[in-house]
Amino acid sequence: MRAEIADGSVAKKSTMTDVEEMRRRLQDYYRIPIALRKQGTTKAPCPFCGKLVEYPLGDGHQDAQCDKDELDELEIEIGERVFIPGYGVTVIEYPEDKRVVVPDNLIFH
Ligand SMILES: [Zn+2]
Repeated sequence: MRAEIADGSVAKKSTMTDVEEMRRRLQDYYRIPIALRKQGTTKAPCPFCGKLVEYPLGDGHQDAQCDKDELDELEIEIGERVFIPGYGVTVIEYPEDKRVVVPDNLIFH
């Protein structure tokens, strides 16, 4: 399964310029917590707490880095599943033009 979400292909250009909207669409499609990071930068917003956090370079599954005292309260619902920060985050990088292509081997269920 390969998803390509780009301006104009799945939505009007105006909505897909919004990175958070793009992130939510990918998250709903793959049904896992996703953090989108712009290529060449180190930080991305955490899908659980919303804070801008630094992840190791590259795409792939990473530990969530939410504050320890918040861990029990943070959960998000995607589809019919509830995820907690202990599950981790799948980091996906997007280029300047916001054209996101998700590699097949990236998705961790
Ligand atoms: Zn967090």
